[in-house]
Amino acid sequence: MNARTDHASALPPLRVPRTLYDADHEAFRQMVRRFYEAELVPGMADWEDQGMVPKSIWKRFGDVGILGAGIPEAYGGSGDDFRFLAVATEEHSRVGLAAPAFELHTGIVAPYLVHHGTDEQKQHWLPLLASGEAVASIGMTEPSSGSDLAGVRTTAVRDGDSYVINGSKIFITNGIVGDLIVLVTKTDPARKAKGVSLFLVDTSLPGYRKSRNLKKLGNKAQDTAELFFDNVRVPASSMLGEEHGGWKVLMSELVQERILVAVRAASTCEAALEATIRYAKDRKAFGQSVFDFQNTRFQLASCATKTQALRIFTDRCIELHVRGELDMHTAAMAKLYSTEVQDEVLDACLQLHGGNGYMWEYPIARMWADARVHRIYAGTNEIMREIIGRAL
Ligand SMILES: Cc1cc2nc3c(=O)[nH]c(=O)nc-3n(C[C@H](O)[C@H](O)[C@H](O)COP(=O)(O)OP(=O)(O)OC[C@H]3O[C@@H](n4cnc5c(N)ncnc54)[C@H](O)[C@@H]3O)c2cc1C
Repeated sequence: MNARTDHASALPPLRVPRTLYDADHEAFRQMVRRFYEAELVPGMADWEDQGMVPKSIWKRFGDVGILGAGIPEAYGGSGDDFRFLAVATEEHSRVGLAAPAFELHTGIVAPYLVHHGTDEQKQHWLPLLASGEAVASIGMTEPSSGSDLAGVRTTAVRDGDSYVINGSKIFITNGIVGDLIVLVTKTDPARKAKGVSLFLVDTSLPGYRKSRNLKKLGNKAQDTAELFFDNVRVPASSMLGEEHGGWKVLMSELVQERILVAVRAASTCEAALEATIRYAKDRKAFGQSVFDFQNTRFQLASCATKTQALRIFTDRCIELHVRGELDMHTAAMAKLYSTEVQDEVLDACLQLHGGNGYMWEYPIARMWADARVHRIYAGTNEIMREIIGRAL
């Protein structure tokens, strides 16, 4: 790993130098930052009202190389290591945005194909995902099973050269704009984890139905849908991995999903801290700046300390992940710790904004609302404690 002190991305109150990124990552950071500020920030308020970003924005994410990070060059990507996706995520958090859900597309769904797809599946889907011509989603959760993933009831029944899928999914990010879904089904409903099979499902197939866009507390420009499958016939060749082998595939990709949540949480804490220091120094009460109250400095000192500790832990996890050495338990710790610290930091920062902190036009309000789901998805924090507890 190319160790280098990264002052460019360190906030003034966080003084421990980052050593994770090299000059290429930093150049990518500058490019991505300019792209977000020029093309994403101006449209976000409208897209939040509309509940999604337009497909044209997905294509722009493809053009600037964000969607192809991690996809091999042979399949239209850049073949870059995970740190490029981490940089794109950090910068997205820095400008206080959560949409579009490109980490899910590039960092969660594409790796299923890269690591477990057949050459034919990769040739078909990966170039479309790298360019943003197709948007990806993943369908695990159902109305009756979220944390208990092995309890899914959507079935896929073999019929000649096809499987016929019936069931439903809920809370699916990119569920409205999505062109591809990695779908968790049961090919043997009598069994739990050992009956699970995955399919790459083209969302334009007959019998595939999308609900209305669900209204959410945060992440308002990310579309979230309930999906219905009424006799959706897919070719047997669209199975991802082996029949009844879906569980192992799912488990193998959870580490990256959880470290990505931690990357976003750590960067959100930094952005919140920066915005709050600026606000508190500017805002006056009782003839002095809010920053000059001892309580404010103590609160911010606590936030800065937690954020610094989180940054160091997260960076170390990224390093391990790039080397393929981040284990399931440490990834669960990163997801658990980062999201709990994040909520503590954001809540304290929002409080220091007073009433303005509750107003959507202030970035802290959006950050606070967007962050709350991090303790719920990618496995709830209770499930993270289960995973960690089992290893003790
Ligand atoms: C905005 C948003 C986007 C999402 N995007 C996607 C997506 O793209 N694809 C997808 O498949 N899903 C998605 N989800 C679903 C998400 O992964 C689930 O909501 C999550 O896994 C929790 O499942 P559940 O909602 O069924 O809660 P439940 O499993 O019903 O949990 C309810 C409560 O019980 C607790 N609990 C459950 N089991 C245990 C246990 N064994 N021990 C202790 N406590 C337990 C939980 O921690 C939780 O506090 C999304 C959710 C949201 C809100």
